[in-house]
Amino acid sequence: MKRKMLMRFPGGLAKALTFSYDDGVEQDERLVSILNKYGMKGTFNLNSGCYAEPGRVWEPGRIHRPLSGDRVYALFRDGVHEVAVHSLTHPYLDELPAAVAAHEVLTDRVNLERQFGRLVRGMAYPIGTYSDETVEVVKSCGIAYARTTKETQDFKIPTDWLRLHPTCRHSHPQLMELAEKFVTTDPEGRKQAKLFFLWGHSYEFERDDNWQLIEDFTAYMAQYADKLWYATNIEIRDYVEDYRRMIASADGHLLHNPTARTLWVEYNGRVITIAPGETKNAEEFF
Ligand SMILES: [Zn+2]
Repeated sequence: MKRKMLMRFPGGLAKALTFSYDDGVEQDERLVSILNKYGMKGTFNLNSGCYAEPGRVWEPGRIHRPLSGDRVYALFRDGVHEVAVHSLTHPYLDELPAAVAAHEVLTDRVNLERQFGRLVRGMAYPIGTYSDETVEVVKSCGIAYARTTKETQDFKIPTDWLRLHPTCRHSHPQLMELAEKFVTTDPEGRKQAKLFFLWGHSYEFERDDNWQLIEDFTAYMAQYADKLWYATNIEIRDYVEDYRRMIASADGHLLHNPTARTLWVEYNGRVITIAPGETKNAEEFF
């Protein structure tokens, strides 16, 4: 007999959409309102050592305007979107001695965890640069995933979370073609799970005078809301890693969920759920 087992996201969905935006700038406030309009979720990578002083008014014409700590807090305190590490002061981490790089990562993490009173385990490499040594540093700081700037232009589920390559930047010339390919390939979600991972800086929309681009992208994706799991970067990483912890009997019939969340599996064409701690005989459903 044929044996088909595929990971499904919560709700039995086959596709997920996530956003990753860097530097904690004023334009994040507008981007958050656009995401909130559709219930989409993103991750915002913050440099806690670069916050503006409260009440700071930047000179006219300046595009890169870091938020103050109190505005960052006001924007992300509700926990809808993820806040993640982007280093304390935005250096080339791969050019720093390991201990200094560790200080950059860990201090930002400590600052954000204290500011928000929650766990902060995600990261984006500042300027996208890293070496094997940087990856070791990041790992030792307890970072669960770290995003690069290398565009894959595909929708594969990541395996190397500390070298997490996004699908594309929003300025990618084929952004909308990639979006269309994502939703129209396997429209019923019967094949392998897919992820559209978009990254950028919200100040680019102001600099390039193209807020319409992200308005169009989100409005387009929102048409497929019932087929897409909207999640933050860490929610996707944690779900996928929990799914990968599922234990199966050698014939694939018995499935045990050792994790604290419900897992969704497509088993021979039918979506089944396995509750935390549950062992299920998937063959009972046929
Ligand atoms: Zn940055």
